[in-house]
Amino acid sequence: MIVCKFGGTSVQDAEAMERVACVIKQRLKQKPIVVASAMGRTTDGLLKAASLAADGKKQEALEQVTRLREKHLRETQKLLSGSSRGDVLDAISLHFKEVGTLMRGLAVLGELTPRSMDAIASFGERLSTLILAHVFEERGIRSQLMDSRQCIITDENFTRAAPLFELTEAAIREQLGPAVKSGRVPVVQGFIGSTRNGITTTIGRGGSDYTAAIVGAALDAYDIQIWTDVDGIMTTDPRMVPEARRVKVISFDEAAELAYFGARVLHPATILPAVRKKIPVHVLNSYKPDQDGTLITDETPPCENPVKSIAYKKGITIVNIASTRMLMAHGFLKKIFEIFDLHKTPVDVVSTSEVSVSLTLDDTSTLFDVVTELKKIGEVNVDGGKAIVCCVGDHLRNIPGVAHLVFSALQDVNVHMISQGASAINVTFVIDEDRLPAAVRGLHDVFFQKLDSRIFE
Ligand code: ASP
Ligand code: MG
Repeated sequence: MIVCKFGGTSVQDAEAMERVACVIKQRLKQKPIVVASAMGRTTDGLLKAASLAADGKKQEALEQVTRLREKHLRETQKLLSGSSRGDVLDAISLHFKEVGTLMRGLAVLGELTPRSMDAIASFGERLSTLILAHVFEERGIRSQLMDSRQCIITDENFTRAAPLFELTEAAIREQLGPAVKSGRVPVVQGFIGSTRNGITTTIGRGGSDYTAAIVGAALDAYDIQIWTDVDGIMTTDPRMVPEARRVKVISFDEAAELAYFGARVLHPATILPAVRKKIPVHVLNSYKPDQDGTLITDETPPCENPVKSIAYKKGITIVNIASTRMLMAHGFLKKIFEIFDLHKTPVDVVSTSEVSVSLTLDDTSTLFDVVTELKKIGEVNVDGGKAIVCCVGDHLRNIPGVAHLVFSALQDVNVHMISQGASAINVTFVIDEDRLPAAVRGLHDVFFQKLDSRIFE
């Protein structure tokens, strides 16, 4: 069997859902399991309504809910004409009635807890899959609407719940196995799950990819297909460099590095369940279903280009800590990282010298507290407005002279930090954000002047 995951833009309206039905119809022999996101922008819309309601703006919240309701009803009306149409429209209205009740509750309480956010956000995927399952049926695809909350069992860390793997794998096999065996296409909500006590949770924004990988791993799928609105993994962001090309094959390690450093195609954690079971992942464009996309796999062919892709991340802040007490001392880094740990603040790039440490953050919500603590052990300065650029390629580890190429591309760009990752498959540096377009373009010119046709389209 295979798992086909469709992101928000791939199910955003009637035409998009129609394309999904075509894609699945062509793959029935491969026994697809469908995992779907909410219709594009629905999750944002629901969460926005929830925060309006909790802020006492009940009317605005309800108007927002009405808009979402109308969109879902309208697109469904375009899609369904058979006998189930009335029932599906009623079911959609009923879901929105429940959303409305929750909004009124939030308005009374004046408070929005992570647990309520998950309850509300879950409606997005519940609605999109309800519609999709009926669209399939009407198009002659025997399908079965599943409830992910009976499959993905998580801890209670609402809005970022972690799946409990043993329970989840067993539940997936129990829930989805029979549907697949009976020749139906199970339709599963991405992103949502539940605690052992049946309270609805979500596994983090963009988490539907993760759901797909978990389902694929639990059922030993032979392929996981992530259908999105881009052509796959590109040599860099085509919005920044229009000449960017498609990367046909990339390794799991390379894809994971890219995801961590801002490539927007994949949720980094997606990779893990697939990697563990060595299940290939395809990233495909649902708007161009005949294109090959990008294959992420364990076995990549050799590539003559040292770099396969350049990713970047904006909005980065550098924190520098300097202290002469660090000189010849030990345990200093430990103290620094304990502070970040205490404030649950992730650090991306680190570089050290004898008496100073520089780190980068992309989330500065805890910056004030972190800096206050750090000042107790050294001199601290904070430098915002930075960007991380990351060149990724398996062959960086054995090709000499890469640093020379990087620096020749960055001649006019001030590099604040540089690190050749411990994995040796990336070279990462930190520059001023306003130099980002020049840097990425420069690097792309240097590394992709000639293209190895086995790897690049
Ligand atoms: N609908 C969720 C979100 O927008 C999950 C997903 O799309 O993967 O974050
Ligand atoms: Mg999404």
